[in-house]
Amino acid sequence: MQIRCYHCHMPISISKDVVYAALDTLSEGDLQHYDIRCPKCRKINRVSKEQLHHAAPNWKKEREEKSEN
Ligand SMILES: [Zn+2]
Repeated sequence: MQIRCYHCHMPISISKDVVYAALDTLSEGDLQHYDIRCPKCRKINRVSKEQLHHAAPNWKKEREEKSEN
């Protein structure tokens, strides 16, 4: 997925691995936002859980399949 920095407007691409890790973190901590640091201005951008779910619709399914083993 890709977001745009709220501060400097630089596009930031987020790999699927990072999206998955973020969803893991959010679900474990019962959080609603994940913080992505802009590589250019170093400011924090908040990405909502909803945005992450949208970027990785199979996250939950794949995690459940994994935990069965
Ligand atoms: Zn920035």
